[in-house]
Amino acid sequence: MLDIHHPEGDDELTEDLLVDRIYADLVERIVSGSIAPGERLRETHVADMLDVSRVPVREALRRLEFDGLVEIRPRRGATVRQLTIADVEELFDVREALEVLVARLAARHIDEHGIAQLEEALARSGEAHRSGDERRVAAATSQFHEVMLELTGSSLLKALMRVVSGRVHWLFRLTTFRGDHGHGAEHEAMLDAIRNGDEEIAAALAYAHVARGRRPTLEALASMLDG
Ligand SMILES: [Zn+2]
Repeated sequence: MLDIHHPEGDDELTEDLLVDRIYADLVERIVSGSIAPGERLRETHVADMLDVSRVPVREALRRLEFDGLVEIRPRRGATVRQLTIADVEELFDVREALEVLVARLAARHIDEHGIAQLEEALARSGEAHRSGDERRVAAATSQFHEVMLELTGSSLLKALMRVVSGRVHWLFRLTTFRGDHGHGAEHEAMLDAIRNGDEEIAAALAYAHVARGRRPTLEALASMLDG
């Protein structure tokens, strides 16, 4: 269930935050299969289901379209897209290049504040793992990567990563949903290299980190496609 109601009233909940939550809720439902590929997502139906108005729903659906998770056609509206094996292969090809650049630039620009932020993100991942809550694990995983991206200070790289961020989140959720492959130790090694400002090691670890996730993810997707 979507927890969007503020006990004190909704005033503090900004429109953006509401869109974020609707978006995250829909990604969750798509990945868990509770909304199936091919299914139509009617604005009014989603709004009723989550007890929100149509405007933020429309915005969340647009974001899912940008991510390639839904297709929006005139008169037909939004339909859930099935990501294919080829989509995931493409995504890994791109991540193997971009995440390497993220780690390299993060190592180049790291400072005390950045180290503290990465350590905090890592600690939160550890807590999420111990809680056994898959949604939290996926969110914490995304967050570690987001902090690393922020540390690059590159607006161009951030823009490039935004194009794949929805699919990456979908991917993290898919793998945690199908049994987590616990990559906390790999994050810790990347953090060490970044902390030391070692660009080459950070880049090599980031490559290995992404590349190692490819097979389990494809297997998870294949078993999902088999139904
Ligand atoms: Zn990771």
